[in-house]
Amino acid sequence: MSADAPLLEVRNLKKHYPITEGVLKRQVGNVRAVDGISFAVDRGETVGLVGESGCGKSTAATSLLRLEEPTDGEVLFEGRDITGYDDAELKRFRREAQMIFQDPTSSFDPRMSIGESVAEPLTVHGMRDRERRRRIVEDLLERVGLSAGDIDRYPHEFSGGQKQRIALARALVLNPKLIVADEPVSALDVSIQAEILSLMKDVQEEFGLGMLFISHDLSVVREICDRVAVMYLGEIVEFARTGDLFENPQHPYTRALLSSIPQPDPTKRGSAIELTGDVPSPSNPPSGCRFHTRCPEVIPPDDYEFEQEAWRSVMDLRGRLARDGVDAAAVREFVASETDQSPESVPTERIEREVRREFDIPDSLSDARAESVLSEALGLLANGDQSEARALLAEEFETVCETTAPELRRTPAGHTASCHLVDETQSVSTPSTSD
Ligand code: ADP
Ligand code: MG
Repeated sequence: MSADAPLLEVRNLKKHYPITEGVLKRQVGNVRAVDGISFAVDRGETVGLVGESGCGKSTAATSLLRLEEPTDGEVLFEGRDITGYDDAELKRFRREAQMIFQDPTSSFDPRMSIGESVAEPLTVHGMRDRERRRRIVEDLLERVGLSAGDIDRYPHEFSGGQKQRIALARALVLNPKLIVADEPVSALDVSIQAEILSLMKDVQEEFGLGMLFISHDLSVVREICDRVAVMYLGEIVEFARTGDLFENPQHPYTRALLSSIPQPDPTKRGSAIELTGDVPSPSNPPSGCRFHTRCPEVIPPDDYEFEQEAWRSVMDLRGRLARDGVDAAAVREFVASETDQSPESVPTERIEREVRREFDIPDSLSDARAESVLSEALGLLANGDQSEARALLAEEFETVCETTAPELRRTPAGHTASCHLVDETQSVSTPSTSD
């Protein structure tokens, strides 16, 4: 164990769930729920893990605590790799690293008084003295804003916010060094959230805890975290000090998340960046940068001059062609019925125009060469040659964002971020340093 090692260091952690098929449970694929994340939490520090639902936050939490076995990677706690721990070592580790869950109701056994629930870890870890357990629990209940007299009451007598206070007391009872809190306020009324957050902050400071604070909500993370890791589809795309992340987000995904936070001050209100398309499945993540299928700033191909919005729209068309296809015959039928003519007599240009409209592509791209490629592809599509249209667009309009996965690297602003836009500014300035 080294004294200057971070409290928790996660290195290239992966958790893949097998997808099986049939009675023989043949493995046909993997859900790459967590796909190689690295970060550290220092003593007394709160690190946030944010991202949309399904990006792998809870899986990261349970894997790094070994509540389920990681597929790969290392988890160092005070410098020692817990992935090799035997049962006795794991038991000791579990005293020092506690978890708090989102749903305060299911966290408690309704038949146990809250005093018994909070004291349970003490009993499990061998404290026999009943009076001493009771004193510890009474003290903790007061520290989390309840009263010692609540000790013999039952979970149903408390509100959601109060239950989350009790869950915090139970997490603290073994004097842990690390708390992993998975969406601890997401199930609570907004009016209660701030109270619980400020309690967690006070407790974290008072006990000198390291905390990993998980939320899908950046505005919550802002209140309580020293540093924030932003996750997308199983990967960390940006990691920075909280102030820096909010002042100067480096990754387009972070910018999109930030822009969607409601802003009470109308003078500071920007327009929300709308992310197109659905979140892709972690069993078949996009090539290159996983965010490229939705990124508003996806890089256009070198050889053409695209307006950014038009390029995003063309990429959406390409994405649709690659996934589900575009049914030109259905478009033809639709136009025919709208215009009262037979499908055969609908001109190809009319179908092309419908497709452009569907994808928000301008009637004519500003770059004449790009426009000629696009109209050729739309012509193929309108005539039912989908795969040729797809191939032509893929060949002519290839972007680095789909071919190459960007590395997580240090940006000139002092964040780490994985984005080709960041790589470009990086390559002309200082070389990357590690912390
Ligand atoms: P988050 O907490 O960010 O909402 P999760 O970690 O719960 O995300 O889930 C990440 C991805 O892993 C999701 O696509 C989810 O469906 C999948 N997943 C989670 N648990 C399992 C499991 N036990 N088996 C298969 N897939 C899972
Ligand atoms: Mg979750």
